[in-house]
Amino acid sequence: MGSSEKKYDIQPQHLSSYIAGKKIQSDSLLEVFSPYNGTLVGTVTLADSHDVEAAISVALAKGEVTSRYDRFTILDKTRQLLMENQEDFARTISLESGLAIREAMYETKRAHDVLLFAAMESLKDDGQVFSCDISPNGKNRKIFTVREPLNLAVAITPFNHPLNQVIHKIAPAIATGTPVILKPSEKTPLTAIKLVELLYKAGLPPYMLSVLLGPTKEVAEKLVKDPRVELVSFTGSVAVGKHIANSVGYKKLILELGGNDPLIILEDADLDQAAFLAAEGAFRNSGQRCTAVKRILVQESIKEKFLEKFLEKAKTYTSGDPLDPDTVVGTVINEAAAIYLEDVVNKAVAKGANVLLGGKRTGALMEPTVIDNVPRDAQMVVQESFGPLAPILTFTDVTDAIALSNSTAFGLSSGVLTQNMELAIRFVKELQVGTVNINEVPGYRIESSPFGGIKDSGLGIKEGVIEAMKGFTYVKTFSIPW
Ligand code: NAP
Repeated sequence: MGSSEKKYDIQPQHLSSYIAGKKIQSDSLLEVFSPYNGTLVGTVTLADSHDVEAAISVALAKGEVTSRYDRFTILDKTRQLLMENQEDFARTISLESGLAIREAMYETKRAHDVLLFAAMESLKDDGQVFSCDISPNGKNRKIFTVREPLNLAVAITPFNHPLNQVIHKIAPAIATGTPVILKPSEKTPLTAIKLVELLYKAGLPPYMLSVLLGPTKEVAEKLVKDPRVELVSFTGSVAVGKHIANSVGYKKLILELGGNDPLIILEDADLDQAAFLAAEGAFRNSGQRCTAVKRILVQESIKEKFLEKFLEKAKTYTSGDPLDPDTVVGTVINEAAAIYLEDVVNKAVAKGANVLLGGKRTGALMEPTVIDNVPRDAQMVVQESFGPLAPILTFTDVTDAIALSNSTAFGLSSGVLTQNMELAIRFVKELQVGTVNINEVPGYRIESSPFGGIKDSGLGIKEGVIEAMKGFTYVKTFSIPW
């Protein structure tokens, strides 16, 4: 491993689950290892079912009620602290997830924006007014709406954006004044806990936030089922999301699940742009984004020309040591994930596909891989392949492209590359997804815009700072004579 050995000559970080600002005391530890070379990068003190009970009780007992200005100040202070500690956060993300350090730095910038927008939104009034004298059946009254915080929400997050997934739930909750118990991924707990510590440091009343890691049955499942929890906000796999849906009982539920987003390249597309967007979409974040490009659908007439440009571009996405600033693509989350990816590539090849670039793995490091002639029923495109794979499929015309795009169980996002506005609008209308981005990757968004998927990808749009804030509140109306 040569020079990289030095970079991993690090002291593991010893962190803990927290109940309302207090560290949990226990001998039970989770160890976190670098996916790249197996170095121990940290430990976390684990919680048990008694800690879950304590965390729920302390949140419901409440404490200092925050004003809008308090919430603005806490979120904005956290944003400043995050920027002061940006490199430390990026390094922690990279160490525990194997993401390239440049991706990890980018993630801190996204988290900055989430905190900025949540701080701004916390100052805005969210009420509406309905005059009642607007029909012959009306009255001289006005109805007003107010949004009230929930008593308690649970946020469960995945590994693939260790910071951004967490902040996308915590910041909107804080902006509305809703207390949260966070259960981050056991694969990437260090970044999440460090963020929680930053929020406490920024002045968040401790009862507003606990973070618990521990055995699934004792912690995550207990939290999800507890009737005192008023909302479960979950981001993760379809299998776990559906399991939660079946066990959650009578409460609000936000599900943001998997995807297999298409990038649809029409014959009039700008092919330089297409090559760039296909590579960015498929390989950024090691292909581990719910909205990564997981299927490249190219019109038959331009496939060869596109492939030439795409391969040239794809070759520049070199994989290697995640902490090396020159590395573009780090590892996937663990070796098991890389073995799965290698396996789906081999299965596609057995069905007639051709690997044009990559295809091999070393440990958890999966090479950025371009695969041509992928059959429409290949596992890698019917199911979600969470890694740096770029499967190429062709379509004949727009009707075929729409049918192919809609043919899987997922419906998260999509990108359509064309110069023809009429066709672009047809895709917007006919693709069964949460988002259609014209001449962009499926993953494009700003952190405050509405985000979410349909079908197996989720219960519709429920994320993005503004939508999430709605989720973390109840609407109350009151009316007065006017
Ligand atoms: P996962 O295996 O479903 O885990 C997600 C979270 O659920 C983790 O915190 C996990 O805890 C927890 N969990 C596991 N079993 C549970 C149970 N029985 N009850 C309650 N919680 C439970 O997902 P992942 O592998 O971390 O993340 C990758 C997936 O997330 C991909 O499918 C990706 O597409 C999806 N994703 C979707 C979006 C979106 O916005 N649509 C965004 C990002 C990622 P442990 O870690 O302790 O097992």
